[in-house]
Amino acid sequence: MITNIKNKLHSWGTMLLGPRSEFIMEQRFLNAFMLFGATVSLYSVALNAAMGLSKTAIILPGLIGITLSGFYYLSRFRKIYTPVLYTSFIFMLVVLSLLWIESGGSKSPVLDVFFALLIFILLFFRGNLLVGMISMYTLTIILLLLLELIYPDVISTYPSEKARIIDHITFLIPIILIISFFIYYTKSYYLKEKEKAEQSDMLKSSFLSNMSHEIRTPMNGIIGFSQLLIHETNPEARDNYVKIINESGETLLRLINEILDLSEIESGQGKIIHKTFDLNNLLREILQSFEAEKGKSFKNNIELKLDIQDKNTVDQIIMDPFRLKQIFSNLIENALKFTDSGKVIFGYKRSGLQELQFFVSDTGIGISKEEQEIIFDRFYKVEGGTKKLYRGTGLGLAISKQLVEMMDGEIWLQSEKGKGSVFYFNLPFKEVANISKPEKEDEEKDAPWAGKRLLIAEDEELNYKLYQEMFKPTGISIARAENGRIAVDLFEKERNFDVIILDLKMPELNGIQVFEHIRSKNKEVPVFAITAFAMEDEKQKIEEMGFNKYFSKPINKNDLFSALGEILN
Ligand code: ATP
Ligand code: MG
Repeated sequence: MITNIKNKLHSWGTMLLGPRSEFIMEQRFLNAFMLFGATVSLYSVALNAAMGLSKTAIILPGLIGITLSGFYYLSRFRKIYTPVLYTSFIFMLVVLSLLWIESGGSKSPVLDVFFALLIFILLFFRGNLLVGMISMYTLTIILLLLLELIYPDVISTYPSEKARIIDHITFLIPIILIISFFIYYTKSYYLKEKEKAEQSDMLKSSFLSNMSHEIRTPMNGIIGFSQLLIHETNPEARDNYVKIINESGETLLRLINEILDLSEIESGQGKIIHKTFDLNNLLREILQSFEAEKGKSFKNNIELKLDIQDKNTVDQIIMDPFRLKQIFSNLIENALKFTDSGKVIFGYKRSGLQELQFFVSDTGIGISKEEQEIIFDRFYKVEGGTKKLYRGTGLGLAISKQLVEMMDGEIWLQSEKGKGSVFYFNLPFKEVANISKPEKEDEEKDAPWAGKRLLIAEDEELNYKLYQEMFKPTGISIARAENGRIAVDLFEKERNFDVIILDLKMPELNGIQVFEHIRSKNKEVPVFAITAFAMEDEKQKIEEMGFNKYFSKPINKNDLFSALGEILN
């Protein structure tokens, strides 16, 4: 019940003030202020009209309300935050000055409003903005006081002293209440920030020692076993060494990806890209990949299950499948890591018309109440009291939490020490009308792509060798271009390629130039991009250019083949 109300408030807040992940606190405050001002002004139009006050008393707040609504609209564009702030601030000073003249000058409650405004400025703004606003503010007050001193007749006077005091009191009460609320709000906000900073400082040092361990362990495996490999002649032992080197490489890659993910998300560059996809298929894919993973990490005794409750299933939905997979992978990986026997179950159910509740449950070591509060922090690992040393840098949950929040969802857990844990996360989604798709045949055939033609533009010899070996069993015939110029020539000469793979960084012409050339001649042929960049926005740029698919190095064979399978099978 309380979570529901909290969720509702959170989503209204996001709708009215802009998402927390995009707007800094000052911007959200400006949005709130404009919305509040516009609502109050328009409300007083209705009130004054109902009370039958003069036309001026109706039109004036009406104009103010409309102007503030306009500012509210504009303040939702983050890029023009500063000009909107200055313009609306000047507007406010002008309106208050007019009110000052109209309602008794320094003796009127407008002075209280000016005072409240000063407190708001001091509370919410810093640096140049603060200096700019305080200068304008002081200038206005000085001009108004001078006006009152030199031309006292311009300022209207109060009918009686009693009316003046009553006016002050009725104004001061709401002003004090609002200011107290804001002081309390900012104080708790900054205290929380301070606490976070202190904790992150502490965590950073534990991260460094952790990181060094996490990098050195697989490095040790790679260097140690590759040295052994040179002198080893027994084929079985060699196979074993290669397997260890491969696994160590994958562990290192995972670590690099985690760090990149986190820095990308924290620098605000992480993007959510909504797509239509089949949710149940995606979950089945996750299940399959973890089934394979389980064996590698000696967790075959744990039952891994996908639980989709029949009544509540959805098919095609719009959400970010890549991010969803990332969150699930982190949670399932933890569940398997911290469980020695029993079950790991994951799935989802509908928790609202446009909301899904996902979960990952395990029968593992569990997490105590105190630890539950902090495990989502960066670099946090529960070390004390556990008999076993678990691998990891403490980034998985921090990444997952940030991703869930970027997608306007919420993540939480229930756990009991020694019994197991359940991680839940809610995410909003849109449902797409059911599109029936033919079932895919998944049979493994010998040389399934014989007769198909593939153009690969790749300048690095080593990378090309890898492609050659990977594609050998498929029977596909490969034309290789060592640089962009040759790729264009080959494409011109034989136009019958079924699919084209372009490395983006190549001599002569780069992959993007080759792609533009190909697309100017042929809009249909599928083209994949391969790069060593791993940033999400780079990826989006490449997708927007019209490449059919994007892969970052090192290439995952399964991903590449399943994408090719969709085209060639
Ligand atoms: P990484 O994910 O970066 O490889 P990690 O798994 O240690 O490292 P997180 O995924 O952020 O880091 O998890 C933080 C900590 O929370 C873990 O170290 C562990 O102590 C605790 N934890 C997370 N999931 C579980 C779980 N399912 N059962 C028990 N403890 C868990
Ligand atoms: Mg983890």
